[in-house]
Amino acid sequence: MASVLEKLTQELAGSADRYDRSREWPEDVLRVLGAHGCWRWGIPRAYGGDEHESVRLIEGLEAIARGSLTAVLIFTQHDAAADLIMRGENGALRDRLGPKLAAGEMLLTVGISQLTTSRQHGGPAMKVSLNGRAATFDGIMPWVTSAGRADLIVTAGVLDDGRQLLAAMPTTTPGLAVGPPLELAALEAASTSTVSCEHATLDAAHVIRGPLEKVLSLRAPVRPLVVSSAGIGLAGALVSELKKLAPRRGAELRAAVEPLFVRYESVRERLYAAADMLSDPSAEAPAGEIRVAVNDLVLRLAIAAVTFAKGTGYLTGQPAQRLAREAFFFLVWSIPENLQAETLRRFCAS
Ligand SMILES: Cc1cc2nc3c(=O)[nH]c(=O)nc-3n(C[C@H](O)[C@H](O)[C@H](O)COP(=O)(O)OP(=O)(O)OC[C@H]3O[C@@H](n4cnc5c(N)ncnc54)[C@H](O)[C@@H]3O)c2cc1C
Repeated sequence: MASVLEKLTQELAGSADRYDRSREWPEDVLRVLGAHGCWRWGIPRAYGGDEHESVRLIEGLEAIARGSLTAVLIFTQHDAAADLIMRGENGALRDRLGPKLAAGEMLLTVGISQLTTSRQHGGPAMKVSLNGRAATFDGIMPWVTSAGRADLIVTAGVLDDGRQLLAAMPTTTPGLAVGPPLELAALEAASTSTVSCEHATLDAAHVIRGPLEKVLSLRAPVRPLVVSSAGIGLAGALVSELKKLAPRRGAELRAAVEPLFVRYESVRERLYAAADMLSDPSAEAPAGEIRVAVNDLVLRLAIAAVTFAKGTGYLTGQPAQRLAREAFFFLVWSIPENLQAETLRRFCAS
């Protein structure tokens, strides 16, 4: 099994710098994910999926991220959307999309940050009004990865009474507009845009869940560990880069980073121990602590990699500077303010 995932990592790593520079949509990366059966991982067996349990899913995400953070960003947004549909209350939608998702025939994404970690100050960024069994969306999804390429966006909005509604919105829906890809510090090939809705109306066949107080509460138990798995993948790429550069650097520098290699192994072990706990539904995995430890780890490894690579590593096209820019994404990706504060407390204190 290990070799199959290593092959996946290598195939993705081969184009990571190229896509970082070209910013082109990575068609061949999606083909590699398809060739390795990744689209089946989170889909129930009833629809032809592999229904991977938590540890196997984490192993897979780590392998994708170690090769390409762009690939894992596209994949995790797709997988999060598929998970919300598969765990939703709309059986007909599940039955219609399940087989297509397992076959890799559709690309999905999520536009839910307006309910979680973005635009939480001020009124709801996305509003919904109900007219009979139809739902009309007005507002914005501030961040949607793969927006211009996806067939469908799982999104959510707030009704006037504060309840929420979750729906599967085809990107062909009248009134939905995908903005131009945002110019970013890294990961631009993943084509993240702001998506706006102006009287974008969906019939009941597209409603996944709600209206109710918290529509995102139904996610798979592994969800809180997904970003940390991507982070451990990136940390693995940084450790490889450091080990590649180490023979060319002096003993003092090599000794300085040794503690980071120990820390990498221990944070990785904690992630897998937490994933293992999830087989017991009553267990509460320390997802927040692990996220903070992963954030701290990728930041320190990024600093070490750029230091080891020196000015040459600062040239565009060089892995060290790309990996360092990608490491900063973990400070803002799907992270609540309390974990941001804990990350800064830890980083600034030591
Ligand atoms: C590259 C990228 C891809 C992403 N892809 C997706 C995706 O596919 N799907 C998805 O759902 N999400 C996605 N996200 C969203 C992500 O998970 C976070 O929700 C997002 O990074 C939060 O940042 P924000 O600037 O929108 O936060 P906000 O909190 O909206 O902050 C916006 C600005 O307001 C300021 N601010 C914050 N709080 C206050 C306040 N109380 N008063 C005044 N000003 C304030 C902040 O300093 C900031 O400058 C993506 C984000 C990025 C960067």
